[in-house]
Amino acid sequence: MSTTPVFSGMMLPWNRYSKRIYRPEIGCKTLSVFVSIYTLVFLNFTFWHKGMEYYSGHIVDFVILGVGIFLLLNAVILSFSVKYCIKPIFILFILISAVSSYYQDTFGILITNEMIRDAVTTTVNEARHLITGKFVFHVFVFGIVPSFLVGWIKVKHQTILTKVATNTAYILACVVVILGTVTVNYPLNASVFRNHHDFIGSLNPVGPIASAIKYTRIILSERNIVVAPLGLDAEKGPLATAAPNPVITILVVGETARAQNFSLNIYDRETNPELARRNVISFTDVTSCGTATAVSMPCMFSLDGRSEHSSSRGLSNENLLDVLVHAGVNVVWWDNNTGDKGVAARIPSENLSRGDTVPFCRDGECDDGILVDRLNRYIGDLTEDTVIVMHQIGSHGPSYYLRYPPEFEKFTPACSTDQLGDCTQAEIINAYDNTILYTDHVLAQIIDLLEAQEDNFVTSMIYMSDHGESLGEFGLYLHGAPYLIAPEVQTRVPFIMWLSPEFASTMHIDSSCLRSRRELEVSHDNLFHSVLGGMNIHTEIYQRDLDIFALCQS
Ligand SMILES: [Zn+2]
Repeated sequence: MSTTPVFSGMMLPWNRYSKRIYRPEIGCKTLSVFVSIYTLVFLNFTFWHKGMEYYSGHIVDFVILGVGIFLLLNAVILSFSVKYCIKPIFILFILISAVSSYYQDTFGILITNEMIRDAVTTTVNEARHLITGKFVFHVFVFGIVPSFLVGWIKVKHQTILTKVATNTAYILACVVVILGTVTVNYPLNASVFRNHHDFIGSLNPVGPIASAIKYTRIILSERNIVVAPLGLDAEKGPLATAAPNPVITILVVGETARAQNFSLNIYDRETNPELARRNVISFTDVTSCGTATAVSMPCMFSLDGRSEHSSSRGLSNENLLDVLVHAGVNVVWWDNNTGDKGVAARIPSENLSRGDTVPFCRDGECDDGILVDRLNRYIGDLTEDTVIVMHQIGSHGPSYYLRYPPEFEKFTPACSTDQLGDCTQAEIINAYDNTILYTDHVLAQIIDLLEAQEDNFVTSMIYMSDHGESLGEFGLYLHGAPYLIAPEVQTRVPFIMWLSPEFASTMHIDSSCLRSRRELEVSHDNLFHSVLGGMNIHTEIYQRDLDIFALCQS
């Protein structure tokens, strides 16, 4: 029996003082049982909660499955019970589970590979709203403290041959019982697993680790990607060529705006008072490509529709913006969010979110009014056909209250903290609706600015959000739910357009005809071809049936 500290050679606190401080000694199987029980009981509230719901009326079957889950976790954990590895790996499992359980239990967020991509590509400013005092407290109590205990105890290791023999026998025994517990109720278990992908995905630490492995695999496959050109044949059509002035389209990519909270659609609160007075067309049945920025935004600009899109395909092919450039259009990207996610890789882009322009910016973030300010300073110099993409911060949570200036706090009391758990659902919705009210104002200002330039340019504006948001419905908050099980509030997005009379006449578009089609079922898939159609760009890759303008173009 070895009494060597597990971290022998490493100057960890429990080693340095090991001779003076009492340290209990337990076997590695016992430790793995403790870690499994701790993880399942304290760090899997969401998993059990979902299980109770999905196995409603079959509680005995769920208990049997629970035994199987315990043995599964125990077998997985014990597989890593190798001298010098056991403690770091157990601690890693506990910390991953502690972090994951916080977001699952607090916001109903699953740690999918798409969420990991979103987190990795986010900014420090965005991340700081999610790393709150409560998060730190949760991770300290449920992650750091038990990790310290794991580090403190001594682990009795058997000789290598004995360990391999006994661990293998133990793991095989677990596997046999696991298979038994799953197969005894196979039809029920298969049905739950097939219909509720979020169930096993919420099991800590299995779900987040599987997601991290998947994300790593995707990232590795995306290395050394050579971007394939797209639409090299693109050219301006006769309508664009004959335009009396440069054609300018402002394409506003919204953030976290859900269609349900737009009074232009069905919402009974007046969240769009300014747009309502500006002759816009709001499509009411629009679905997003994904439920997170890192998925939706590249998809919106990709030739692939939702069914074919993947991050790898998005990165390995040029997109809508490149096609516009091939046609000789001036394209720029202005970002007031967490970056372009690779979409604007080959065009000029400006990050406005880190500025200190008064009165838009404070505490390292800027209101979307800064996009209007930039347009005001830019538009006068334009001499060629142009598409300006404005990537909003929009309604990005959980700090909804920071997304609008104080004078837009119309719906009160508004949740004024990023700790959503400290607010009532009504307060959260109030704060969120204020963000929509401010977006309404920003879009109206853009329209006014374009209208003021009617003698100089042929202008239009298209606004489309990247995905929606959960505001406490079904116990869910924020966004990022796996698409197949995502609630409609995360996948229904606003899609609003404004066409100046000059634009409509130049491009032969009947605006009232478009307005009469506003209830048509459309999606992010339509954006690519509608922008090409609206700008009268001819290319072989253009699909007329996905171009919304083509419905009403003579
Ligand atoms: Zn987003």
